[in-house]
Amino acid sequence: MNIRLFKPDIGQEELEEIKDSFDQSWIGLGPKVSEFEVRWSKFIGCEESIAVNSATAALHLALRCFNFPKGSKVLVPTMTFSATASAVLYNDLIPVFIDSNEITLGMDLDDLKRKYDKDCVAVIPVHYSGHPIEMDILVPWARSKNLAIIEDCAHTVGGMYKGKNLGTWGDIGCFSFEEKKCMTTGDGGMICSNNKDLLKDVRAYRWVGIDKDNWKSAKSYTQKDKDAMHWFYELKVLGYKYNMNDLAASIGLVQLKKVVKMNSKRSKIIVDYMRGLRELEIETLLPFEPNKYVYQMFGIRHNYKDDLIIFLKSKGISTGCHYTPLHMQPLFRDFKGTCPVSEKIYPTMITLPLHVGLTSDEIDYIILSLKEFKNLS
Ligand SMILES: *Cc1c(COP(=O)(O)O)cnc(C)c1O
Repeated sequence: MNIRLFKPDIGQEELEEIKDSFDQSWIGLGPKVSEFEVRWSKFIGCEESIAVNSATAALHLALRCFNFPKGSKVLVPTMTFSATASAVLYNDLIPVFIDSNEITLGMDLDDLKRKYDKDCVAVIPVHYSGHPIEMDILVPWARSKNLAIIEDCAHTVGGMYKGKNLGTWGDIGCFSFEEKKCMTTGDGGMICSNNKDLLKDVRAYRWVGIDKDNWKSAKSYTQKDKDAMHWFYELKVLGYKYNMNDLAASIGLVQLKKVVKMNSKRSKIIVDYMRGLRELEIETLLPFEPNKYVYQMFGIRHNYKDDLIIFLKSKGISTGCHYTPLHMQPLFRDFKGTCPVSEKIYPTMITLPLHVGLTSDEIDYIILSLKEFKNLS
């Protein structure tokens, strides 16, 4: 047995779409990226989407849109991937780490209110593992404080909360298509918003400062009555090399068609896990509601974390821990603030395998192995 923690669901269809880009000899920023953006906007239900090469880049540029004064504070959860807080540092801003809700492991809204002060300019809620933050409470509060809201949706694609798509509750939504996420483009990310004006410089930011894509200029070059200025571009902002390319977008176009199916497959797996764990009286990482929300990862809380991880490894079952609270990391240690709940729960958190290819035999085997461990101890 060798059961992976995460595994992308990719195959022939994706290859065919990539082949199409090969046939056109256009593999950089081009028509596939544009098509993926349009389809994405329809899927999420937003006005504008801009594709980049990671969610890390998406978060960096999302904060960049606001031109916050250097040294302003941004409220971020401590229980998240580094990118949520690195994006704050990239913008010369200061992260303020918010403790976890004891039950959902999402940002604790009471701690959020406690740690807010007048130097705060934005908040970045993360829908941890895909379980939604109570946006109906967070949004009105953040608006009353004049805070920008950037949703880090790296753990969900197509998830909804109270009838509204995650990623459309705040000012900007950021998604990840890294290979472990709900859908993938190899590496990739998306920035989306219902406020086109807010994103007006993002196309330039993502592509070295140039605000027109070179596919359009190449096409105009081959037309009759060509514009003698087809080569011209103007640099107005300091851009980055953050664009998605057509190879990644090819994969994304196919994955987007499959994502609802992939989501429901992962939900079914979680239902199976929960049934098995209930019998063993093992606590899940959070109160998963797989029929309601879209999850990217699954896990448990266990008092013998280290021993269990080693035991499962000996059985060929990969595990993980998402995450070491960021305020405990050397990089972020200087940013003060206590997060006692995350520190208490983190030593019990174990991530279990969750991906579309996981078979029911494998799930049974994982449950059986957990049972075996229970009988040992
Ligand atoms: C994976 C992840 C990111 C970064 O995504 P990339 O596409 O790998 O840059 C950001 N935030 C969270 C919560 C993540 O899990």
